[in-house]
Amino acid sequence: MAEIYADVIVDITQASLNKSYQYLVPQELQEKVRSGVTVRIPFGGGSRVAEGYVLTLGDRPKIDPERIKPILEVLEDRTDIESRLLNLALWMHRTYGSSLNNALKTVLPVRVKERQQMSTVFCLAVPEEKGRELLELYRKRNYKAKIRFMEMLLEKKELSSVYVHKNLKMTGESLKRMIKEGIVRERSEAYWRNPWEETPVERTGLPVLSSEQETVYQGILREWTEANRPCLIHGVTGSGKTQVYMRLMEEVLRQGKQVILLIPEIALSWQNVSRFRSCFGDNVTILNSKMSKGERSDQFERLKRGEAGIVIGPRSALFTPFTNLGLIIVDEEQENSYRSENAPRYDAREAAIYRAEMENAHVVFGSATPSLDLYYRCEQGECVRFVLKERYGGAVMPKVRITDMREELKNGNRSILGRELQEELAARLERKEQSILFLNRRGYSGFISCRSCGEVIKCPHCDVSLTYHSNGRMVCHYCGYQTAEATKCPTCGSPYISGFRAGTEKVTAEIKRIFPEARVLRMDADTTRNKDGYEKILKAFSSGEADILVGTQMIVKGHDFPGVTLVGVLAADLSLFVSDYRAAERTFQLLVQAVGRAGRGDLSGEAVIQTYHPDHYCIQAAAVQDYEAFYEEEITAREMLDYPPASNLLAIRGSGPDEQKLVFAMEQLKLYLVRCGTDSTRIMGPAPDVISKLKDNYQEVLYIKETDGRRIRQMRQRAEKFIEINSGFRQMYFSYDLNI
Ligand code: ADP
Ligand code: ZN
Ligand code: ZN
Repeated sequence: MAEIYADVIVDITQASLNKSYQYLVPQELQEKVRSGVTVRIPFGGGSRVAEGYVLTLGDRPKIDPERIKPILEVLEDRTDIESRLLNLALWMHRTYGSSLNNALKTVLPVRVKERQQMSTVFCLAVPEEKGRELLELYRKRNYKAKIRFMEMLLEKKELSSVYVHKNLKMTGESLKRMIKEGIVRERSEAYWRNPWEETPVERTGLPVLSSEQETVYQGILREWTEANRPCLIHGVTGSGKTQVYMRLMEEVLRQGKQVILLIPEIALSWQNVSRFRSCFGDNVTILNSKMSKGERSDQFERLKRGEAGIVIGPRSALFTPFTNLGLIIVDEEQENSYRSENAPRYDAREAAIYRAEMENAHVVFGSATPSLDLYYRCEQGECVRFVLKERYGGAVMPKVRITDMREELKNGNRSILGRELQEELAARLERKEQSILFLNRRGYSGFISCRSCGEVIKCPHCDVSLTYHSNGRMVCHYCGYQTAEATKCPTCGSPYISGFRAGTEKVTAEIKRIFPEARVLRMDADTTRNKDGYEKILKAFSSGEADILVGTQMIVKGHDFPGVTLVGVLAADLSLFVSDYRAAERTFQLLVQAVGRAGRGDLSGEAVIQTYHPDHYCIQAAAVQDYEAFYEEEITAREMLDYPPASNLLAIRGSGPDEQKLVFAMEQLKLYLVRCGTDSTRIMGPAPDVISKLKDNYQEVLYIKETDGRRIRQMRQRAEKFIEINSGFRQMYFSYDLNI
């Protein structure tokens, strides 16, 4: 009978991932040993026994079988955080493909290096008065080092560890004792260097809920004690979803458990975080993608010690190694950034549900425009939807008007600003109220097209449109290719070339032309490139330093500007025509969010949507903020065309330097998959991807539609195996996207 061998990892941190060891699974344990379980194993020389985690099982010994030791025991029902995170990684590997190592790296905490821990600072842990008393005591007893140390602490508030040891000559021994006695505290400097931590925030305490909010809050608490399904707070912009989150968090903290709040990276602003800090103070900590590995591991250390019970961060914060997780909140649930672009291409929303299930925690999603997927799940009864219909405090939804830009042109107005919008802007300037102009250019970025033949100028390496820059050059945003601005069309030779050049700069210039006295701020990828650019612009606009804020989608994401009474949406329909089955959904979400920025303070708001397709259901529904109306139209379309969530869609993307070889390989893969499928499976392609060439690599895509979710996952696994063992796929890279 064939033996079974287990790959066991002993020390579960990223640093040691490549050090797994093989053990024999004894006959009597074969039923219990699965990947993810904790086992006891002989380790190292002598009779040492260690605990380890089983990664994978196989039947091939990697070394002389004689030298492979057996597993001693399976530790069942282990619930330590390491084994849970390991199981989350294994699930990710099963669900999204890519290598196990990638999955482990994504999920497991970084190992703390000794050197990084040295960057600590010391500060007083007792009130200053008590510090002075102690100083007197030290003086009486003539403790020289302690006297110097306490004097400096009282003066400087905090001292670096190097300074304390070298200059003040404090010994590690007496420092340790002072920490133990609760006189001083050490903390990692990396954490405190965080800019948000240094800004003091006034404590306001917990919000008192409105009756609508209270109903939702109570309803969720009830669900938690019953089926504990994931909950969705579907609340219009300004309805106070945040306040409901806060009360839910409080409830979970009260039970001695911890909270992860996921928000899109772009919404991780000072303003947003301080709302939570004013409620929970230093119990709130943040994680972000700019943090170094060291900073991250310092944070994890703090969290493990229970110094903070709430983590706010982007999708990766889901992997915070809390030992007693009680609640995961996913704000702005519809955001695309919850999908990882790197392998494994996991979806933090699905992973949140999985982690919560495993750890007996709760999941709450929040959105004004939930993804069609989640809404569909609610309809199916897998999730529970709670609705907040009203804006808090009686604020009313903005009045929305739609401007047909085709009519504007007919009437001789060639400006990017239609007449309605111009009038409204003028009125705001007169009344000293603020306006936001949102330039919808998702998928488009100030591209250059020919007005005679319609051709768009593209990058010769990437097949994406080039973007015009103010330095007179055209740039590729994927590979960085640059060329001088074209003066005539490369296709037909026409000199009428410029086309859609309305970047935020152009809009700003147009406003200046019409309203020379207006103070305008601009926010886009260019003006926010350096670290604080984004925060600076937001703060400046919040404090009334400008009348009009012009920007791309980043201005409509979750910021509260009470002074804004007008929102203008330019080119509302541009994103409707991106080649993506979710184009309408994305456009709807953006428009609703944009419109929702107006009238969040005491004054009521208005919005003007400029479009070339005023009759499209997406524009119509967005104008009246009617999610249900949009959902009905959209889900019908998805059902008709077998798109998610009505069906499953797997995209297999292949890329490689040789186009012919790539296409041939993709065709072979298709033939193989056709044999794996059933009558209900549909396979399309291979076809050039949206970006058919990137950095001189060709990109082809195969689409598979299949109603059975389990079967489509199997097909992905089979495709992976097929590619792995066939030499025809060498020098090609493949990735898999399910339902995005
Ligand atoms: P949403 O996130 O749903 O768009 P917010 O949570 O930003 O809405 O709330 C909108 C505004 O209403 C905020 O200024 C918020 O402070 C205020 N607000 C909402 N609920 C309450 C409450 N229960 N108590 C006090 N202020 C509230
Ligand atoms: Zn042309
Ligand atoms: Zn390029």
